[in-house]
Amino acid sequence: MKRDLYETLGVAKTADEKELKSAFRKLAMKYHPDKNPGDAEAEKTFKEISLAYEMLKDPQKRAAYDRYGHAAFEQGGMGGGGAGMGGGAGGFSDIFEDIFGEMMGGGRQRRSSGGRERGADLRYNMEISLEEAYAGKTAQIRVPTSITCDVCTGSGAKPGTKPTTCGTCQGSGRVRAAQGFFSIERTCPTCHGRGQIIADPCVKCHGQGRITEERSLSVNIPAGIEDGTRIRLSGEGEAGLRGGPSGDLYIFLSVKPHEFYQRDGADLYCSVPISMTTAALGGKFDVATLDGTKSRVSVPEGTQAGKQFRLKGKGMPVLRSSQVGDLYIQIQIETPQKLTKRQRELLKEFEELSSKENNPESAGFFSRMKDFFDIE
Ligand SMILES: [Zn+2]
Ligand SMILES: [Zn+2]
Repeated sequence: MKRDLYETLGVAKTADEKELKSAFRKLAMKYHPDKNPGDAEAEKTFKEISLAYEMLKDPQKRAAYDRYGHAAFEQGGMGGGGAGMGGGAGGFSDIFEDIFGEMMGGGRQRRSSGGRERGADLRYNMEISLEEAYAGKTAQIRVPTSITCDVCTGSGAKPGTKPTTCGTCQGSGRVRAAQGFFSIERTCPTCHGRGQIIADPCVKCHGQGRITEERSLSVNIPAGIEDGTRIRLSGEGEAGLRGGPSGDLYIFLSVKPHEFYQRDGADLYCSVPISMTTAALGGKFDVATLDGTKSRVSVPEGTQAGKQFRLKGKGMPVLRSSQVGDLYIQIQIETPQKLTKRQRELLKEFEELSSKENNPESAGFFSRMKDFFDIE
């Protein structure tokens, strides 16, 4: 169980930016590896608080965390080795480099010139029916996201003008300063790390290089998809900052429970109640199947409760294959209720005419039990 990020920093969920920063500074001073050489525990704590701060100081990541918890930053999923959810620059190590770069004045320069940043990953929850999972579908979804500004093509500068190199940091995006016992290299306050000054910002995006818009996306849901599947649409997430690459869009898919069918992998199960007389005398009934047709099930005379009938090929398709699962009909037997006088008479008469051969299981059960426990 991962620790709560707010708890890690020792702040309330309502903490503002200032409180977060001061809590982080205090803890960072205490657990910094330079101050605790060779102390693995302190180093671990330092990493935890650094990561917690990195997540919470970003309003977008913080919102994602408040909503989804740690799941918002889970790694991997479909497609293998995707970037972390909401991870600005692709996962843990980059986040780290970022914070260490900031804290320790290390020479690791992650930002390329112009302050390019990868856009955030987005999550979209989609619920589909079992019928839709069976047939597959093309879904149109609307994703609110920020995209590259079309006017300045992401540079943030008014068309016809160009960003100029920042005089404070000479374009590196970072400046050195002494703070406490650290020599800190920090983000340049003049250009906010871009290394460039936009004297004449683009009117449409106000120099951000991106604008917020709702996009319509067409998503292909393949036949046979399972509940809990994550679909990654590479590059369909939020646009990067100032020309950086876009994040990914993750579709978290859930399949609604079905009124009649339970699913187990490619197989479907359907519980069918039949009357006691149908079970005893035999009979037929039709079940509707997901392919839009119906299948006839013949119940032989003397069918017992729990008996399964298999309808071959009437289950779910197997993802990206030509295989199809089966549908299992599970028989339940309904004992008649609210008998009329006449029905009761008939059943009593039936009972009088019954022999052990009519109910070998129950007759046999009680005689075996008597023998086993040696009782009369
Ligand atoms: Zn623009
Ligand atoms: Zn600068």
